[in-house]
Parts: sequence; structure tokens; C-alpha cells
Amino acid sequence: MRTAASTPAFPELEGRHPCFSITAAGHAASARLHLPVSPRCNIACAFCRRDFNDVEHRPGVASRLIAPDEAETIVARALTLLPNLAVVGIAGPGDPLASDHALDAFRRIHARFPDLVLCLSTNGLRLPDRIDEIVAAGVATLTVTVNAVDPEIQARIAPKIGWQGRGLSGRAAAERLIANQLAGIAAAAARGLTVKINTVLIPEINEAHVGEVARVTAAAGARVINVIPLIPQGDLAHLPAPGIVARARARAAAAEHLRVFSHCARCRADACGIPGVSDVSAELWGDGRVAE
Ligand code: SF4
Ligand code: SF4
Repeated sequence: MRTAASTPAFPELEGRHPCFSITAAGHAASARLHLPVSPRCNIACAFCRRDFNDVEHRPGVASRLIAPDEAETIVARALTLLPNLAVVGIAGPGDPLASDHALDAFRRIHARFPDLVLCLSTNGLRLPDRIDEIVAAGVATLTVTVNAVDPEIQARIAPKIGWQGRGLSGRAAAERLIANQLAGIAAAAARGLTVKINTVLIPEINEAHVGEVARVTAAAGARVINVIPLIPQGDLAHLPAPGIVARARARAAAAEHLRVFSHCARCRADACGIPGVSDVSAELWGDGRVAE
């Protein structure tokens, strides 16, 4: 069995990408900007609640949606606020591969700021058929949210998906999503992208399954995993948030197969700064938001 200790580190990213740095010092050495450029999603996670507001600090929330042609101006402004800005990521509010907006924005940023690390976060449904576009746009790091590799479990987490112009539900939806995620991870790894897995830890649904997610995604080519505690909301609002014991157990199970990133701050889709450490997004976006 491969262990975390034998998993290669990321010397090229340690200290250059807060969410691919395993050490606390590396995590705090550089900043990232999230561009809220992706308007819609192609799956329906039961816990998802996307919104536009200035007050909530969680994924799926932004003050407003931006157009791809605004991206360069916003990155230039962020660089004046954050000299250590190293990463521009797109992680919402919808899925970055469900529309063309994210890859359009990345192409523009890569042409003007080639030294910035471009980071894309996706549910993976469109990963296999868009991987060449992703590479051509200059993306270097990829996060795929994989909450289950067992279709029975996955069907409880995202009961519906939209695929090739039609809706799939239940087990058929779960099988398609998982197959695409694993094929997409393998294709991304084969093209040299560094792949991180985000797994939402959901009590009563996947809390005993995280080690298996890590094992299967590691075999596909992922190199690090981020186990994110559920924020109970949407159709899973009745569940408790996972406690410290459940989180420690899940991360220990995942660490059997992948390095574990444990500094996740569950950021907004328009966050700007060092996750959990600093936040200049209120200055950047010009709203009345209170910093994290
Ligand atoms: Fe929401 Fe992301 Fe799930 Fe889409 S993939 S439904 S944006 S949590
Ligand atoms: Fe990094 Fe977690 Fe924030 Fe994503 S949500 S940018 S993985 S700290």
C-alpha cells in the first residue's frame, strides 16, 4: 500500500500555492484570488446553496458574477493589493467547466500574467472532454471534488446531473459522474497537472468512505486530498456538521493513500488573500464585506 510518507511532495508548489502546500509555513507564504466567473452548474449536490451576498464566508457565495473580460483588470488590481499573489483560481459560484466562462478568463490571464499559477476546481463531469482546453488555457493545478466512488453513496449526495443534453438521476447519474471524475483525473495527471481531491465529509453518508475515495483517486493519479467538513444546508440541512473525531478519523483513513491538506478555510468564490490568514477581498471588490 502507498502511504502518505512515500507520496511525492510538491517542491514546485510548496510556498507557491496555499492549497497545495502541505506545511503551515508553505500555506501562509503566498496568496490566491478566486474569480467568480462561472454562472451555472451541471450537477445538483444536495448540500449546495449558491448565493450572491457580501456576508457569508463559504464556497458557492460571491458578491457578484464577473464577465471573463473583466478578469485581467481584477487580477491587475489584486496584484497591487497583494504583492505575494501567486495563484488565480476559479471555483464557482457554479462549476467552471459547465460553461465557457472560466477557460475564457484563464486564457486571457495566462497571456498577460504567465507567471501566475492558474488553478481550476471542478466537479469533474466535463473533465475528460475538456482536458485539452484546460491545459491549453495554462491551468497547472486542478481540484476535483469527489465525494464518493461508490454509486450508491454518490447518488445520495448528488441525486441528479445534466449530461449531454439530458438529465440523469440516481444510480445512473452517480455512475456517470464517478466514471468521468476518474477518467478526468487520469487524463489530467497524464498531462502533468497536479491534482487535488476535495471530499466533503458528510455524516451518515460518506464518513466511513473517505479512505476508499482516497485509495481510488490516488490510483487514478491524484496526489493530495482535502477533507472538508459538511456545512449543513440545502437538502442536507438536517445533518450535523462532522465533529473533531469524525474529521480526524476521515483524514487518517485518507492519509493511508494521499497526502492530506488540512488548512482549508472553505473560501468564498471571490476570496482574495491567504486562506484563513488574510483577506483583502472587500478592498478588491469594493463592497462592504467584513474580512474573514
Ligand atoms: Fe454546487 Fe459545486 Fe455541487 Fe455544482 S458541483 S451543485 S456548484 S457544490
Ligand atoms: Fe484552498 Fe480550501 Fe480555500 Fe479552496 S476552499 S481556496 S482548497 S483553502
